[in-house]
Amino acid sequence: MRLSHHYVIPHISTGDMLRASVKQGTPLGRKAKVQMDRGELLGDDLIMEMVASRLAESDVRARGFVLDGCPRTVEQAERLAEILTPFDLDLTIDIEVPTNQVLRRLAARRVCVDCGANYSVSAPPRINWTCDVCGGEVVQREDDKEEAITRRLELYERQTAPLIDWYRARDQLATVSGTGAPDAVTRRMVNAVEERRARRGGRLL
Ligand code: AMP
Repeated sequence: MRLSHHYVIPHISTGDMLRASVKQGTPLGRKAKVQMDRGELLGDDLIMEMVASRLAESDVRARGFVLDGCPRTVEQAERLAEILTPFDLDLTIDIEVPTNQVLRRLAARRVCVDCGANYSVSAPPRINWTCDVCGGEVVQREDDKEEAITRRLELYERQTAPLIDWYRARDQLATVSGTGAPDAVTRRMVNAVEERRARRGGRLL
């Protein structure tokens, strides 16, 4: 989200898109909710159809995008490359955080049910779990509870971590440390993008 604000380009989060469908009570949302609450991954077909239709919209075509939470499997990465042809991703960023910190952060995370703004038990909204941005209710995500977190981390190791080597082999990977303050992590990501831009002689694709 912060990276997309920095470059003023669309932030496309598959998790946010799915949560919006859940909230609207669409058939997709009803199906997604059960899986998401358990920390399971949704099917590659469903995810990539959703992503393909978002990537076909004019704002993305004109300005580029930050894709967040996708791909999560090698199959999704292959499908994404096909969708983007004749272009490709400029860069994927692997944000490294030690597992014990991931567990702590997820368990402490609280989100606004309306706009998705993130808080934590140590940095709550100013007034009584009411979102500072939009006034929505701030709650713990069902999939930030212990059992679902454990499952999400298991699936990350098995299905998502192999993407690190996959993108490295294609020279599309930057790794940044995700520890420390959010501003510091954003700065590291911006540096990674700028390094890539410099290597390309000032150009992103
Ligand atoms: P996130 O907000 O990115 O953590 O996503 C929340 C949940 O949505 C995940 O735990 C999955 O259940 C589902 N989800 C989001 N993105 C994907 C994806 N690319 N592939 C499969 N499931 C996804």
